[in-house]
Amino acid sequence: MNYTNSPIEKINFNNQEYFVKRDDLLNPNFSGNKARKFYYYLINDFPNIKKVISHGSSQSNAMYSLSVLCKLKNWQFDYYVEHTASFLKENPIGNYKYALENGMNIFEGKLPDSFNKETLFISEGGALKEASFGIEILANEIKEWTKENNIKNLKIFLPSGTGTTALYLQKYLPFEVLTCACVGDEEYLKKQFLQLEKDNFPTILRREKKYHFGKLYKEFYEIHKEFKKQTNIEFDLLYDSLGWLCFEKHINSLKNEEKNYIFLYIHQGGVIGNLSMIERYKYKYDN
Ligand SMILES: *Cc1c(COP(=O)(O)O)cnc(C)c1O
Repeated sequence: MNYTNSPIEKINFNNQEYFVKRDDLLNPNFSGNKARKFYYYLINDFPNIKKVISHGSSQSNAMYSLSVLCKLKNWQFDYYVEHTASFLKENPIGNYKYALENGMNIFEGKLPDSFNKETLFISEGGALKEASFGIEILANEIKEWTKENNIKNLKIFLPSGTGTTALYLQKYLPFEVLTCACVGDEEYLKKQFLQLEKDNFPTILRREKKYHFGKLYKEFYEIHKEFKKQTNIEFDLLYDSLGWLCFEKHINSLKNEEKNYIFLYIHQGGVIGNLSMIERYKYKYDN
C-alpha cells in the first residue's frame, strides 16, 4: 500500500497557471492531509494501544480518516460529538456513513475525564506534534520536485482549519507558505499556530468577508463547479472553495515582478466529505 508520494500536476484556472500537489490521490481510503497527519500512527508500532478516542463534528474528515486508521491497526475507535443532526442519522452519507461502516462507535456528549494506558487520545482535527512527522515527508516531496525542475521562486498555498498542516509545511520548507483561516478568524488561526510552535508562521491572507465554517455560500459552490469544469479536479467545499477565492484574489493583486513566481496549491483531500455538502448545495441552489 502506498501512502506517500502524490503527483504534482500543472493546471490552468481562469488563465493562470498553477501546480497542484494531489494529496487527494494518495490512497483511495487514506488520503489528504489527514493521511499525512496520522502517518506517524500508521507506520509505527504501538503494542500497548487498543483504542483511539477522538472528538469533533459528526461529518469531519479527521473522523473518517481515523476510522480507516483504526481499522488498519485493529484498534477500537470511540468518537465523541456534541450532536448529530437527525437527517444524518436517518440518511447516513459521506464521512459519517463510511466511518460507521469502518466500525466507529459514536457517542453524543462529553469526552471521558481520563484515559487508560491502552488508549490513544487524538485531539480534534489532528492538531498534534506527531503530525509533523508525515508533513515533513510531504515537504520533502515538494523539495525534490523543485530540485528536479530547477524551481527557485515558489509560493505554496493551502487553506487552514487548525493550521497544523500549513504550520509544519512552513517549518520544513525554504519557501513562503500562504494560507487563510476557514475555521474561526485570523486571530484564532494564529493562536492555533502558537500552541504548536513559537515562530516561523505561514503568511495568513485576509478573507474578503467573514465566513462561518460549514455554512453554505453561493460563491463556494460556483468556484467548486468552475474548477471541476476547467480542470476536472474536484476540490473540497469546506476549505478549498474559500482557499481558492483568497489565493486567486491575492495573485491578482500582485505586481508584475511578483507574478514570476510558480504557485503550488496543496490539495488536502476531503472529497468524501463533499458528498453531504453537495447534497445540501444542490438542494439550496439547484432547485
Ligand atoms: C482537515 C482539512 C483541512 C485543514 O487542515 P488543518 O491542518 O487542520 O489546517 C483542510 N482541507 C481539508 C480538505 C481537510 O480535510
